[in-house]
Amino acid sequence: MIPSELSWKDSFKNGLRSIEQVNQFFNISLKEMHFDNLIPLHLAYRIKEQGLDGILAKQFLPSNEEIADHQEDGLNDPIGDQNFSRPGQIIHRYKNRALFLPTTVCPVVCRYCFRKNELSNNDEIFKSDFQKTLEYFENHPEIEEIIFSGGDPLMLSNEKLESYLNSFSKIKHIKYIRLHSRTPISLPQRIDTGLTEVLKKYANTFETLSIAIHVNHKEEIDADVTAAMARLREIQSLNLLSQTVLLKGINDCPNILEDLFKKINRLGIRPYYLHHPDKVKGGMHFQLDIKAGRIIYANLRDKLPGWLIPQYVLDIPGGYGKTPLFNPEALEFSGVLINYKSQQIKL
Ligand SMILES: *Cc1c(COP(=O)(O)O)cnc(C)c1O
Ligand code: SF4
Repeated sequence: MIPSELSWKDSFKNGLRSIEQVNQFFNISLKEMHFDNLIPLHLAYRIKEQGLDGILAKQFLPSNEEIADHQEDGLNDPIGDQNFSRPGQIIHRYKNRALFLPTTVCPVVCRYCFRKNELSNNDEIFKSDFQKTLEYFENHPEIEEIIFSGGDPLMLSNEKLESYLNSFSKIKHIKYIRLHSRTPISLPQRIDTGLTEVLKKYANTFETLSIAIHVNHKEEIDADVTAAMARLREIQSLNLLSQTVLLKGINDCPNILEDLFKKINRLGIRPYYLHHPDKVKGGMHFQLDIKAGRIIYANLRDKLPGWLIPQYVLDIPGGYGKTPLFNPEALEFSGVLINYKSQQIKL
């Protein structure tokens, strides 16, 4: 049973971090653990309830597979962030928008995370220097959107988040703010009144304030998540988007994705991205090939209206950026398009 009075702070503070805590709580016997780990306590109880072959365990419990992976393929920086790292905590790849990485803290550590090596090593890209960050944004008028990433920006205190938003609101060319976060799903109690007040204020300050919520499976959504989403939905102009990572053994099935997108629609979230998994060292056991992903995605066309289908994208290894994967031109274009019914259409 999940203790009902567990606050998010206690759930986080008393979360499982060491290999001994994990082994003891789940009665397993992992011998090594190569990357950072954190399972907040309420989630540890949910994993236990669901069972060790459930989709929560597969996403969040350290495993021997990732140790095998760690010694084999995969990249430390699969999407080439390092090449676009800028003074302060910035990654600037696309002209009109840039990532801001204000924290390395996450509400949970996902085992497939594309930044797992950088986060575990507390890489240079997270070195904080807010003065330099501000100067960079001020000196780059082409940047219209600041995208808070990390780590997870909703793990900042309400005061800290407010102070960043306040600083950015003074830069004239910043029109849009986006927060990429797993917190509403993985630590929903964190969406407290103090936070919604800050979000409300800045949803009215910037042209658009968005939260891109990271969610991979409908079973991640329980009554607490539903309640947290209701609190966010009260902020009228807040733009609620989703991002999902396509993961082998978790959601690599059109029916699972259909259920997920229908469920998040009921929470007021618009599906935005379906990411093909990144080739990250330690996360290779979640990989599936692009062909398999395309077939899954093509199947969604019959099950969901266009507005409930996210864009299926790959962040091309090496820093080439995101590309739609369902566009045959993203591979080598053969001149033939294959539609959702596997009909071949010559253009
Ligand atoms: C993904 C990403 C973005 C955001 O791109 P959108 O297509 O606007 O969601 C911005 N900068 C970097 C470096 C990224 O990797
Ligand atoms: S919340 Fe995001 S950054 Fe944090 S571990 Fe999960 S995927 Fe990685």
